[in-house]
Order: sequence, then C-alpha cells, then structure tokens
Amino acid sequence: MSILKELRNIINPELILIDEELKNHTYTKLGGKADFFVTPSTVEEVQEIIRYANKTEVPFTLLGNGSNVIVRDGGIRGIVLSLKKFTGIKREGNKVIAESGARIIDASRFALKEHLTGLEFACGIPGTVGGALYMNAGAYGGEVKDCLESALVVDSTGDVHRLSADAFDLAYRTSNIAEKGYIVLEATFSLEIGDYHEVKAVMDDLTYKRESKQPLEYPSCGSVFKRPPGYFAGKLIQDSELQGKGVGGAEVSTKHAGFIVNKNNATATDYISVIEMVQREVKEKFGVDLEREVRILGED
Ligand SMILES: Cc1cc2nc3c(=O)[nH]c(=O)nc-3n(C[C@H](O)[C@H](O)[C@H](O)COP(=O)(O)OP(=O)(O)OC[C@H]3O[C@@H](n4cnc5c(N)ncnc54)[C@H](O)[C@@H]3O)c2cc1C
Repeated sequence: MSILKELRNIINPELILIDEELKNHTYTKLGGKADFFVTPSTVEEVQEIIRYANKTEVPFTLLGNGSNVIVRDGGIRGIVLSLKKFTGIKREGNKVIAESGARIIDASRFALKEHLTGLEFACGIPGTVGGALYMNAGAYGGEVKDCLESALVVDSTGDVHRLSADAFDLAYRTSNIAEKGYIVLEATFSLEIGDYHEVKAVMDDLTYKRESKQPLEYPSCGSVFKRPPGYFAGKLIQDSELQGKGVGGAEVSTKHAGFIVNKNNATATDYISVIEMVQREVKEKFGVDLEREVRILGED
C-alpha cells in the first residue's frame, strides 16, 4: 500500500500535507519540501505512525519549531512529524507540565503567571518543549537540565515511558534522545515558588539583552556553533573579521557574530557554505574547531 494510503488509515487526511515547503516551518526560512508533513493530534496516532515507519522503513524525521535546524534544499524524504498540536501546559503543585509542541517561551510565561521561578532562562528561546529537551536548551546561565524532573516519551517501537531527567544524559546543548530514538511527548519541570515581580524583572532583563544583541529582524537559527572550551564562538568569528561576509543571500550577522542570517532569499546551500567558511577561517586563524550546534537535515 502507498505511504499516503497507510497514513490516511492512521490519521485524518486533513492532517497530512503532501510536498509541504519546509521553509514555512523553519526559522531560517530555508529548505526544500517534505514528502509528507504530518501533524497528529493524539498520542495513539503518534504511536501508530512510528510503528508504521519502523515496519516499512519509511524515513521518518521529527521537527519541533524548526529553530535549530537547517533543512537542505532537496527537502526531506518520507514522513516529517510535527507535534505542534500538543500544546497543553498545566501546573501541579510546584511543577509545570508542558506538552512537547508547546513553546518553551510559553512554559516560561506560564510559570511567571503562576508565580513560579526556575524557567526564566527560557523566556526568549524560540523552540518547543520537545526541541528544548532534545538540545538541553539554555541561556544566560540556565538550562533545561537545571529544572527538568521527568519526561514522557515514545520509544522507537511506539511504546510510551515516563523517564526521570537523568535518563537523558543532558549536557551542554546535547542529550541522548537521538541515539535512543525517543520522541518527547511531555516534560515536567520542577520549579519553586517565586515572587512575581522578581521573576518578571529577570525575564524583562533577559528579553532586553536578547533584543539588543541578536539580529532578530532576519531569519536565523540562533547561535550556529557551540561554545568551544575556553573560548566564545562569537568572539573568534568577530576576531576573524567575518562579520558581514557571506555566500549568496546568507551572511555572518554584523550585529552578533555567532549568528548567520538569511538576509536575502538565501538557499540552504548558501547558508551551509557560510557555516563551512566560518569553520575554515577560525581554524586557520586560531586553530579552534567550531562544532555546530544547529542540526542539518535532508538532502541537497
Ligand atoms: C533567534 C534564536 C535564538 C535562539 N536562542 C537560543 C538560546 O538562547 N539557547 C538555546 O539553547 N537555543 C537557542 N536557539 C536555538 C533553538 O531555539 C533551540 O535549540 C530549541 O531548543 C530548538 O527547539 P525546536 O523545537 O525549534 O527544535 P527543532 O529545531 O525543530 O529541532 C531540533 C532537534 O530537536 C528534535 N526534536 C524536536 N522536537 C522533539 C521532540 N518532541 N522529541 C524528540 N526530539 C525532538 C528534532 O528532531 C531536531 O533534531 C535559538 C534559535 C533562534 C532562531
């Protein structure tokens, strides 16, 4: 049976988009098409899709908010799964429980509204809760690892498990989620009672810092590189005099050297060429290997 027919047996056909432009689902506004862009609305549908993909070996890719990925110009074959319909956020005691497709920014704002402290660092990170766990996202001294208590995941056979935070090997911008093949369905953050005005003041300060230092007026995927031990990626790039240099429509931001912006209808090939140029020049000038934080998906 064709992939489309099988998918239509699992979820409402309206939730399956064919040849969907992924530039509409990525922060860099780059990338080709997904053969099937699927947005299930129940956990059972997610489980069935995974079981089907495993049984038939149809390629399968999970996308969150697309804020830390570059999709190549040839797009992504097979099924691209989005959990954007899973957006619930609730409080239980001093915990915030957020579904994986909710924005971590919204979880942070929810915590503020509930007078809870611990998620302030996430107030400007444009990813989903699932993507934030996958990346162990963090900013300004905080990261997911500091407050994650547990998460609900689907494994590669389609079974659901609740795992405690230490099961994910969270470390600087990394986890074992890809290796284990987990799909995060929900995360539980353990927070503390805070003072609304103090929590808000921290969030306002972080928002001000972000807006004044980052080129948020252009599409990008945030900081492209991880912080190399003993250095700052942005400073190395700045000192290599690469700001404003680019390929096609993509260039190293003049406002924040750690960002590469899609300034003028760049292709993914342009963007990836700029990444490689930066890695080459920094290695040549300072002997430092810049490791990508951003993930590259799909084919040329
Ligand atoms: C302007 C800007 C500023 C940023 N600032 C920061 C920052 O301060 N700190 C920071 O850490 N990051 C930052 N980022 C990067 C990005 O927002 C984070 O890495 C975020 O956690 C990615 O989440 P996402 O939902 O967009 O994931 P995506 O980019 O869609 O995916 C990233 C990876 O997560 C996987 N994934 C997504 N959802 C799930 C799920 N439910 N289960 C399992 N795996 C999943 C995907 O398969 C993919 O491999 C920034 C990005 C931008 C564009």
